[in-house]
Amino acid sequence: MRTKIVAGNWKMNKIFEEAEGLISAIIEFMDENELENKAVIICPPSVYLELATDLAAESDLLVGGQNISNFESGAYTGEISAPMLSSMGVDFCIIGRSERRKYFNESHELLAQKVNIALKHQITPIFCCGELLPEREAGKHFDIVKTQLDESVFHLKKGDFANVVIAYEPVWAIGTGVTASPAQAQEMHAFIRGLIREKFDKETAENTSILYGGSCNAKNANELFSNPDVDGGLIGGASLDAEEFIKIIQAL
Ligand code: PEP
Repeated sequence: MRTKIVAGNWKMNKIFEEAEGLISAIIEFMDENELENKAVIICPPSVYLELATDLAAESDLLVGGQNISNFESGAYTGEISAPMLSSMGVDFCIIGRSERRKYFNESHELLAQKVNIALKHQITPIFCCGELLPEREAGKHFDIVKTQLDESVFHLKKGDFANVVIAYEPVWAIGTGVTASPAQAQEMHAFIRGLIREKFDKETAENTSILYGGSCNAKNANELFSNPDVDGGLIGGASLDAEEFIKIIQAL
């Protein structure tokens, strides 16, 4: 049975005190509420990862990074390695976010290397895929997503792929306030699950958590998450406010 997940991608937001307050509020909610077969992950900026893993140590809250180097260690100023993340108790890492593809020119090949190195160090990649608006308008969205998966995660062996979470994030919906309709999300998620079934097998496909990302908020989470192939969300803007994020967790 696959896990339902809500993951918050804080991107480059919050100063230290705000980060502390937000993490504490989420932990307080989680301590008071049983979340069976549901996982809540926060992905704060890397400077707050130690704070997050320290505060979350006694709770069920899980912590993820927003980025990871494709190198193990060495002269790569500003980069953060997989061994560093795992040594701090970080269990997840977002890989393949559209901003990293766009502003940092992250290629399919580089993303495959990041996926490999994360898995090597017991970090679960939250692998993001999704099409741009012109690609959807041209009817190419299925091909784009298939290529992203083919090139960066479908090289994995079945046992390794079993430790990957997929996030479908149509780029036109990220931070725009325009959400994919529940039908659009379900259609793509079912397509992705079908690809996983073809590549690996039915069991692997059924066990893979596929999250939706793109202007998901407390108002639309319920409808999005009620689709059979939508296993939760990767939440950007709405993860920055404790009350809003908690409502999304409750919609799982
Ligand atoms: C994201 O950051 O992954 C995201 C989906 O952002 P937003 O929810 O703000 O659209």
